[in-house]
Amino acid sequence: MKTHTTFRIGGPADIYVEPSIYQMVPLIAYLREIDAPFMVIGNGSNLLISDDGIEGVVVALGKAMSEIVIDESTQTVVAAAGAMLSSVANRAAEAGLTGLEFASGIPGTIGGAIYMNAGAYGGEMKDVIVSATILEGNGELKEIYVDDLDLSYRHSALMENEWIVISAKLQLAAGNVDEIKATIADIRDKRIEKQPLNFPSAGSTFKRPEGYFAGKLIDDAGLRGYTVGGAQVSEKHCGFVINKSDATASDVLQLMKNVDQIVYEKFGVHLTPEVRIIGRNIN
Ligand SMILES: Cc1cc2nc3c(=O)[nH]c(=O)nc-3n(C[C@H](O)[C@H](O)[C@H](O)COP(=O)(O)OP(=O)(O)OC[C@H]3O[C@@H](n4cnc5c(N)ncnc54)[C@H](O)[C@@H]3O)c2cc1C
Repeated sequence: MKTHTTFRIGGPADIYVEPSIYQMVPLIAYLREIDAPFMVIGNGSNLLISDDGIEGVVVALGKAMSEIVIDESTQTVVAAAGAMLSSVANRAAEAGLTGLEFASGIPGTIGGAIYMNAGAYGGEMKDVIVSATILEGNGELKEIYVDDLDLSYRHSALMENEWIVISAKLQLAAGNVDEIKATIADIRDKRIEKQPLNFPSAGSTFKRPEGYFAGKLIDDAGLRGYTVGGAQVSEKHCGFVINKSDATASDVLQLMKNVDQIVYEKFGVHLTPEVRIIGRNIN
């Protein structure tokens, strides 16, 4: 899974598939029929996968499931689950549709972004989603509207249901192409300036504890640059754990545990992972 995660960490999956939108429903029905363990992923940009890999089938929704359809008359976008946020944001910009600029630099797919209710720079998926077409546990396709997706800070109803996002409908608004592109460029520059984008990572490692910023707590605890094996609290942005040099999942987990413990001892605040920790013998 090293090659399928932005952390560049993780042992093998037993089976790895990248289905097209037409293969998805029969594939998942078959996996459920034979009782095979499986997991759906997008771009793997919020995952820490065990060094022992993943049991069962990893179903990766990417290029083969990435169609984007824009309706300029209603200012809506329908995007397949594997479409990258950057592609959707750029296509919307070209069409003069505003509202998705915040997501342009988040390196995830539409499916992963709904699962996480991804957000940045004052926006979140909740603001733009009308509905998602979901493959339910019983094999039925259903359109679920935003209220029932229960989106809040890094939370969605997908976390409590066996729902797989197949596609989503977004409502944007008419805007000025040049202004939209300028905002996207500005966000890109801010990310390059503030984030350690030259090292593999999964973005913010911890969620924002209420009333605090994880990165500031970690910095104030003296942990900037703190290292375990090949994993390091980024010198550039303490909210990111980076894969400095061939880090293992065990290195990252140990570092996360130590950071949480030291921050708790100093400030009485626990840090909970934002990154999804998944796979054999992990935890
Ligand atoms: C450099 C960097 C910067 C980042 N900046 C931000 C940021 O500003 N804001 C932010 O919110 N996040 C950020 N992230 C984290 C990450 O990009 C987001 O969480 C993103 O939404 C994950 O999408 P993904 O497609 O990579 O999902 P994955 O990491 O592949 O999966 C994440 C979760 O979603 C589930 N999932 C994926 N696709 C589907 C689907 N179709 N149906 C059901 N479940 C699904 C998976 O099972 C998994 O539990 C950053 C990451 C990096 C590496």
